[in-house]
Amino acid sequence: MYLKSIEIQGFKSFANKILFEFHNGITGIVGPNGSGKSNVADAVRWVLGEQRAKQLRGGSMQDVIFAGTELRKPQGFAYVAITLDNSDHQLAIDYDEVTVSRRLYRSGESEYKINGSTCRLKDISELFYDTGIGKEGYSIIGQGQIDKILSGKPEERRELFDEAAGIVKFKRRKAIAQKKLEDEKQNLVRVSDILSELE
Ligand code: ATP
Repeated sequence: MYLKSIEIQGFKSFANKILFEFHNGITGIVGPNGSGKSNVADAVRWVLGEQRAKQLRGGSMQDVIFAGTELRKPQGFAYVAITLDNSDHQLAIDYDEVTVSRRLYRSGESEYKINGSTCRLKDISELFYDTGIGKEGYSIIGQGQIDKILSGKPEERRELFDEAAGIVKFKRRKAIAQKKLEDEKQNLVRVSDILSELE
C-alpha cells in the first residue's frame, strides 16, 4: 500500500484545486516559509478524520477553509481526497485503489466518502485501524512529535506499539463488548428488582 495522490481544494492556503501525485521513491515538498508545506500534511490528517482544530493549527474546524486574501474571495468549502494503492489488500476493502475524501462547508455540514460512497467518520477510522495511517497513526510525524513521544507517558507510547502490532482493532472491539456486558448487567439488576416487587 502506498499513497498515490492527494487532491486539495479550498483547504487552508490552497484556494484552487491542486493534485499532488506520488511515484516510486522519495518525494520532497520544498518551498519558502509560510508557502503551505505543512498544510499538505494537515490536509492528510484532516481527511483521515482529525476532529481537533488545534492539531491542525487552527482555532475552530472552519479555520481549515480558505479564508481569502486581498485578491481572492474566501471559499465556501474545504475538500481533500487521498488515493492509496491497495493492490496488496492491506486495507480490508475489496478494491485495488482506495480514495477517501472529506468535505466541510462553512455551515458546519460535512461529508466523508470512501471510493465515492458517502460513509461515516467511523468507517474511515475503522478502515485504517492497525495500519499506522489513521489520524493517530505514526505514518505522519509532525514537528516536535518525536520529542513528545520520547517524553510522553508510558501509556501513550504503548498506544503507538499497539498500532504497530496490529491489536488496536481488537482492543476497540473488547471495549465495545465490555460496555455491552456492563449495560446488560444493569438490565438484569433492573429485571430482578421488578421481579422482587412482583413477588
Ligand atoms: P514553514 O516552512 O514556516 O513551516 P510552511 O511552508 O509549512 O511554512 P504552512 O504552515 O503550511 O507553511 O502554511 C502557512 C500559510 O498558510 C500561512 O501563510 C497562512 O496564512 C496560510 N493559511 C493557513 N490557513 C489558511 C486559511 N484558512 N486560508 C488561507 N490561508 C491560510
